[in-house]
Amino acid sequence: MPLIPLLPIFHQFNREFFDKSLTFGSHPKVAVRWSDGRLKKTAGLYRSYRSLTKFLKAEIVLSRPLLESLPSTAIESTLCHEMIHAWIDLVLNVKEGHGANFQQRMHEINSAQNRFQVTVHHQFPVPVALPKWWAVCLSCGVRLPYRRLVNGAACRQCCEKFSDGQWDSRFLLKYEPVLKDI
Ligand SMILES: [Zn+2]
Ligand SMILES: [Zn+2]
Repeated sequence: MPLIPLLPIFHQFNREFFDKSLTFGSHPKVAVRWSDGRLKKTAGLYRSYRSLTKFLKAEIVLSRPLLESLPSTAIESTLCHEMIHAWIDLVLNVKEGHGANFQQRMHEINSAQNRFQVTVHHQFPVPVALPKWWAVCLSCGVRLPYRRLVNGAACRQCCEKFSDGQWDSRFLLKYEPVLKDI
């Protein structure tokens, strides 16, 4: 599925909600782009770079893996959220996370339209990273997902049941790689 271009939405929001304060003429003060496949922990982010004496660059990045299959309202809500951060940093010139300025602008935007709602935290499901290993107890058959191998781990449930909660080599977990079906 092709990705929605973000720049037209940026310009529209800039006019509609930010009084054109996020552009110099028609030039955005902040770069806006889709991430590659790696941004998976958050739906979007805003960041800026400064040296001691001058402003270097600001950008908004939206997560392709998290947002590409969601409805466009999720993309709009995330982009607008990050634009509020950009506005606080570049226009108000204050250091703030989701403080008073953020909340106020968010409420203004939410009450000005009903196409989407901006929230303080992005509410989209973050896909859980697949485990690499199954740890299997040969005694009770339990299979536990593990991200990495842990040497000497034993089945807690069997140790509790059969050896008074003491670690017991009879219940050492055996590891099997998880087969990814892609
Ligand atoms: Zn935020
Ligand atoms: Zn067990």
